[in-house]
Amino acid sequence: MVALNAMKNYFETGATQSLDFRITQLKKLKAAVVANEEAIYTALHKDLRKSKEECYVTENGFFLAEINNAIKKLTTWVKPKIVSTNLLNFPSKSFIQSEPLGVVLIISPWNYPFQLLMTPLIGAIAAGNCVVMKPSELAPATEAVIKKIIESVFDKEYILFVKGDGATIVPELMNNFIFDHVFYTGSTAVGKIIYELAAKNLVPVTLELGGKSPCIVEDDVDVKLTAKRIAMPKFSNAGQMCVAPDYLLVHENIKDKLVTEIKNALIEFFGKDAQQSKFYGRIINEKQFARLEKYLSNGKILHGGKTDSTDLYIEPTLIEITDSNLPIMQAEIFGPILPIISFKTFDQAIAILKQNKNPLAMYVFTKNKKKERQWLTAVPFGGGCVNNASYHLTNHNLPFGGRGNSGLGNYHGKYSFDTFSHKKSIMKTYTWLDLYLKYPPFTGRLSFFKKIIG
Ligand code: NAD
Repeated sequence: MVALNAMKNYFETGATQSLDFRITQLKKLKAAVVANEEAIYTALHKDLRKSKEECYVTENGFFLAEINNAIKKLTTWVKPKIVSTNLLNFPSKSFIQSEPLGVVLIISPWNYPFQLLMTPLIGAIAAGNCVVMKPSELAPATEAVIKKIIESVFDKEYILFVKGDGATIVPELMNNFIFDHVFYTGSTAVGKIIYELAAKNLVPVTLELGGKSPCIVEDDVDVKLTAKRIAMPKFSNAGQMCVAPDYLLVHENIKDKLVTEIKNALIEFFGKDAQQSKFYGRIINEKQFARLEKYLSNGKILHGGKTDSTDLYIEPTLIEITDSNLPIMQAEIFGPILPIISFKTFDQAIAILKQNKNPLAMYVFTKNKKKERQWLTAVPFGGGCVNNASYHLTNHNLPFGGRGNSGLGNYHGKYSFDTFSHKKSIMKTYTWLDLYLKYPPFTGRLSFFKKIIG
């Protein structure tokens, strides 16, 4: 772990601390990403058959929106935040100073292999840390282009790019070096391994995990609009999106109409044969393809269902589910198969939702404010949308993260800066007054303390 100790030494010189240094690094990173735009598109097309447009919205453009915001706001974010002081401490001033954590580790998955590694990096640099970056080995073309960008811009003692099989390299890193924070995005199963590795040395973690995100549709909606707003995020990146609507709970009064409109939307988006569309992605590898194919027998196929293993293609599929105990309703789908379950009453729908607690996201479609409030308060979940799906994560003014099984902590925008900072609380007490009442002997002062403490 010579390289990691060198990073620690570099961090301790204080070189990464100044505002100027941080802004310069962010600007250098941004310039390198812009200069490599075509290479990023080529890599993401190779790994996941993403179109340039989809890449811009969800990968490099997403990253640019975040980095532009950080460059613009960092001067404000780093300023100590003055807070009020309680009467007991009069005369004092209190403030919170953000300080970098040290050497942090960022681990990312394969589904948005550029954005999910590079966006946390913005927060880590902005907060003044040294960073070890570990991408997913399952998106090798993107891994190569990020490596090239990072190594062309940064010294290894500041930002270190490591690659390899996660099951080997991550424990090796975490067992031999005490990181100051680990930021992990990926499955809940591996998230538990990371949490255990971190616990040994009390290393703080952010866990951005998966989950089974429900999408609820009441019978008072504009069905055509709702269908489009569900179909787009569900089938974007062939459903391999952590915040994709996992399954649909639709009021029985409009189920058939909604299914017809989702089919229409799919034909509008990808044509009659989605395999020929340049806007429809592919499954990452054979293992995931085989896992997903099994779900196709868990219900009645209402649309789609075609597969081509030679092309890792699974058609956008709508599948009617009448038995919520089947495997398709037990785990996150993470693919282009949308189970549709109808409900009659709120209680029926809630019973199904409770089978998979603490989803990463939840979406409610209704025009009725009372129903909207009822859904938003009845279910604990990470974050979500009303009359929309998945887009909440593109607003960097909202903290993004899960709860329970779907994660721990959050990031995006200022929240990323906060995640990678320690909040140092300082009280500065003035010397022009020193109340004798605060010092013993305290005889007869109980009523005074009651008055000033509360
Ligand atoms: P994964 O957990 O298999 O891999 C993620 C990372 O962990 C990779 O870098 C991998 O190399 C590493 N890894 C794998 N096995 C490991 C082990 N035993 N020990 C240590 N590290 C290991 O996840 P994935 O399949 O790449 O991604 C899919 C999952 O990620 C889905 O569950 C999805 O919902 C979730 N996800 C969550 C978010 C979010 O923001 N919350 C975003 C994208 C994906």
